[in-house]
Amino acid sequence: MRLILLAPPGAGKGTQAELIEEKFGIEHISTGDLLREAVEKGTPLGLKAKRFMDKGELVPDDIVVEIVKNKIRDLKEFILDGFPRTLEQAKILDRFLEENNEKLDAVIEIQVPDEKLVERSTGRLSCKCGEVYHEIYNPPRLEGICDRCGGKLYKREDDNPETMYSRIKTYKMKTLPLIKYYFQKGILRTINGDQDIERVFWDIEKELNKIKS
Ligand code: ADP
Ligand code: ADP
Ligand code: ZN
Repeated sequence: MRLILLAPPGAGKGTQAELIEEKFGIEHISTGDLLREAVEKGTPLGLKAKRFMDKGELVPDDIVVEIVKNKIRDLKEFILDGFPRTLEQAKILDRFLEENNEKLDAVIEIQVPDEKLVERSTGRLSCKCGEVYHEIYNPPRLEGICDRCGGKLYKREDDNPETMYSRIKTYKMKTLPLIKYYFQKGILRTINGDQDIERVFWDIEKELNKIKS
């Protein structure tokens, strides 16, 4: 399956993508993780991206598109988390898949009320391996340590209330139009994200099983 997870910052895209990857064996590609990796390595691309990420704004389309194309070129199946985030990105992705005689199977929209987004993101604990935890809602077994890889958990620099307000505003302005775009294509599947992690996954799983059968 070729899937997109579409939701505001802090809604649970990364968490659900990891669960889908585990259960269905589909590779999870997070543009946020890839960009943070580039920032950490201090590559020219990373340095350019950081300025936008720090402000809670979107990194320019051409940078992100290049990263994604390189990642999905040889993949039959994937879960995109955090991409596309603009109509332009969505259209480029469609063209790219068409050229390879491929198409998206579903766009999973995870709906979460705004007030919960800040709470989820400010309590987020991230690991380099892609796993995410929450101080209250999904704590690791050992404080500060990743259950899966034993790595040290960290708080993302942009997970503060100020940057979150800006990221939510950016989402509404730039990314929300994608909901209509994919609805009109008939591939949008909306999930209630205002439930605990297991229940959200349960609902996603039901949708994915329908697609598979
Ligand atoms: P996104 O990738 O959409 O920004 P994450 O998956 O990283 O979101 O989740 C953001 C934070 O919220 C993390 O700390 C995660 O553990 C927590 N979280 C994710 N889903 C839920 C949920 N259904 N209920 C409560 N907390 C959640
Ligand atoms: P979240 O999990 O909170 O939704 P991400 O990790 O997906 O956040 O993204 C973090 C930041 O990386 C975004 O605020 C944005 O600056 C940048 N970014 C990630 N994906 C994209 C994209 N598809 N287009 C432009 N910028 C992006
Ligand atoms: Zn880890």
